[in-house]
Amino acid sequence: MRTQVAIIGAGPAGLLLGQLLHLAGIDNVILEARSREYVLGRIRAGVLESGAVELLERAGVAERLHAEGLVHEGFDLAFGGGRHRIDLAGLTGKRVTVYGQTEITKDLMDARAAAGAKTVYEARDVELHDFDSSNPGISWTQEGGRKALGCDFIAGCDGFHGVSRASVPPGAIKLYERVYSFGWLGVLSDTPPVSEELIYVSHERGFALCSMRSRTRSRYYVQCTLSEQVDEWPDERFWKELRARLPEDAARQLVTGPSIEKSIAPLRSFVAEPLRFGRLLLAGDAAHIVPPTGAKGLNLAASDVHYLAEAFIAFYNKNPGELERYSSRALARVWKAERFSWSMTKLLHKFPEEGDFGRRMQLAELEYLATSRAAQTALAENYVGLPL
Ligand SMILES: Cc1cc2nc3c(=O)[nH]c(=O)nc-3n(C[C@H](O)[C@H](O)[C@H](O)COP(=O)(O)OP(=O)(O)OC[C@H]3O[C@@H](n4cnc5c(N)ncnc54)[C@H](O)[C@@H]3O)c2cc1C
Repeated sequence: MRTQVAIIGAGPAGLLLGQLLHLAGIDNVILEARSREYVLGRIRAGVLESGAVELLERAGVAERLHAEGLVHEGFDLAFGGGRHRIDLAGLTGKRVTVYGQTEITKDLMDARAAAGAKTVYEARDVELHDFDSSNPGISWTQEGGRKALGCDFIAGCDGFHGVSRASVPPGAIKLYERVYSFGWLGVLSDTPPVSEELIYVSHERGFALCSMRSRTRSRYYVQCTLSEQVDEWPDERFWKELRARLPEDAARQLVTGPSIEKSIAPLRSFVAEPLRFGRLLLAGDAAHIVPPTGAKGLNLAASDVHYLAEAFIAFYNKNPGELERYSSRALARVWKAERFSWSMTKLLHKFPEEGDFGRRMQLAELEYLATSRAAQTALAENYVGLPL
């Protein structure tokens, strides 16, 4: 078997890259370790920057997104018992769209199936070969036998725990990392959201976020310690803790119900540099992780793919120079999103080690944000997404 671009990973990065390359007439094969159903069942991101929406439009997969996605023109910051709206549309002219990652994944999988493009699910023990030569390849195990695929390039879109970044010799890659001392306990429930827009809460008991996937499906999070287990959080305890962190009006309006998904995600900031190693190119979570506070993980995966698809298309149009620029173009945007996600995390979470002084600094910054148009504009500009 041979293809032009072998893509490892059928998450949003791999599927979107596959679709953009397919539309440009570039042959590609996706290898995914898990089953299609498993990938579709993962509950993750839900807030899309306007640039990510435009990219999905260009990929021809935005019809359902526009029909079912919720366009948000702002969000609330809650602290000290009050709520302060950040008017994204008024400050930047841009909006964000709430549409679940699982839905994007489904739309991209459907488009790929309609195009007849090849995806290998349940590809075990994927190995990368010779990406420092002009003749790289991939091998994997399937149905008991070892298979092989030759290609021009390998796109490593296999997430944080994938094999692509791990295949790079340690001396060729530099890793930057910050691991936070807390996580997010998330609950998905078929209850109407407490508010039309998201509420980010900074509270003495810890951070909380009121988000949603639709008008009838809510996604809520509370900051928890890393030692806590999901089974220590029966639904009643979760709702009680969330209510305790919300401003009074929101706490009164909160509709609770049985959780349909509950999980704890650790928070991490991570960047690998560079993103290109000969004929292996990394994109999305394979190359970087942000804490979810700024809603940037999925959006960064999309912006990497934008630059990477442009680089491949230029290469096949006899302009190989764009591939040289991929790493620096993508990383310039990645680092700004890392900074934003880190600063939102620092602003809104409880850091016991920072003591009372640290809390007063957070409150001073939140009050400044609530009253300064300049500060709100800087926040809004980053939240809706910096230009590609
Ligand atoms: C629990 C959780 C909650 C999140 N919540 C949010 C959120 O609220 N907001 C936000 O913006 N972001 C969130 N994120 C981040 C966001 O979901 C990711 O940034 C996004 O999924 C990145 O897409 P990706 O395609 O790069 O990686 P992934 O979605 O991780 O896809 C990688 C794919 O590669 C496959 N794979 C892995 N190893 C191999 C291998 N060896 N061989 C073949 N295939 C392999 C995986 O099965 C997977 O399908 C969350 C992430 C997690 C884990």
